[in-house]
Amino acid sequence: MRSSYVVAMDIGGTNLRIGAVDERYEVRNFQKKPTRSVFTTQEPLADLSRCLHAYVAQTQIAGRIDAIVIGFPATLNRQRTKVLQAANIPFMENLPVVEYLQETFKGVKILIERDVCLLMCCDMAAYRLADCEMLLGYYFGTGIGNVVCLNGSLYLGAHGVAGEAGHIPVAGNDEACGCGNRGCLENLAGGKYLAKLCRERFGDTPIQDLFVRHGKTAELQTFIDHMAIAVATEVNILDPDCVLIGGGVPNMKGFSTELLEKKIHEHTRKPCPEQDLKIIFVEDDDKKGVLGAAYLARGGRRNSGRL
Ligand SMILES: [Zn+2]
Repeated sequence: MRSSYVVAMDIGGTNLRIGAVDERYEVRNFQKKPTRSVFTTQEPLADLSRCLHAYVAQTQIAGRIDAIVIGFPATLNRQRTKVLQAANIPFMENLPVVEYLQETFKGVKILIERDVCLLMCCDMAAYRLADCEMLLGYYFGTGIGNVVCLNGSLYLGAHGVAGEAGHIPVAGNDEACGCGNRGCLENLAGGKYLAKLCRERFGDTPIQDLFVRHGKTAELQTFIDHMAIAVATEVNILDPDCVLIGGGVPNMKGFSTELLEKKIHEHTRKPCPEQDLKIIFVEDDDKKGVLGAAYLARGGRRNSGRL
């Protein structure tokens, strides 16, 4: 029997990943390329469509595609048809992505989702957490990717933009944020801030060695404390069954997940939810978004609430 595939594209600010996931959840023909090498004209939807068609032709899977799923580093509308705000790929904002691709891929299901939600779908499947009532995801990369899952479904919120804990305002912080507001937590606990800290305070250290060489300094301990505040804030509000923590930052060499866990416990309300708080640190993997896209597409769109 010929297998069918989910074609998944995970678009990041810097790199774009694409793969075809078969029914056994094996990723075929995985490719990673600079995002700007795909979006080269004034028509980003045409660029996107061209890239997908070229990939399908090259992979020779035309006629065997269950769905095409695209992950964006962005907020999306509740209907999941267009990108609302994308600081790293602003050219994609407010375009009818799904409608456009449906025209060029007749009969194929087209889904778009936030990139972090795809990571969460992958981890939920890997750790068999779909039965949890309340699940939180924190992916610390350039910013803070946050996902809330309710009864195994991505919780979208009234406008589709729930799970933006990175943009919790912090008293006394006036830093401009990529979202347009000032004083967001992401500017104290995200990778972008970490890169700035590295440049300004540890100039001679390559960023990948930052925690190995300077992990014990007050600056980096405070940074981890701010990450813990981001997590504990939401834990105190939602009392989750489990919290998944991943992304590039906690997976850096020398990063103390023990310290992060300890700080999260310090900031979480006693006796509960602190007492039985379950935290899972998950690894970073280039293919995770692509794989998560296949779980999302095949599991059906199990969103909470109305649509
Ligand atoms: Zn913000």
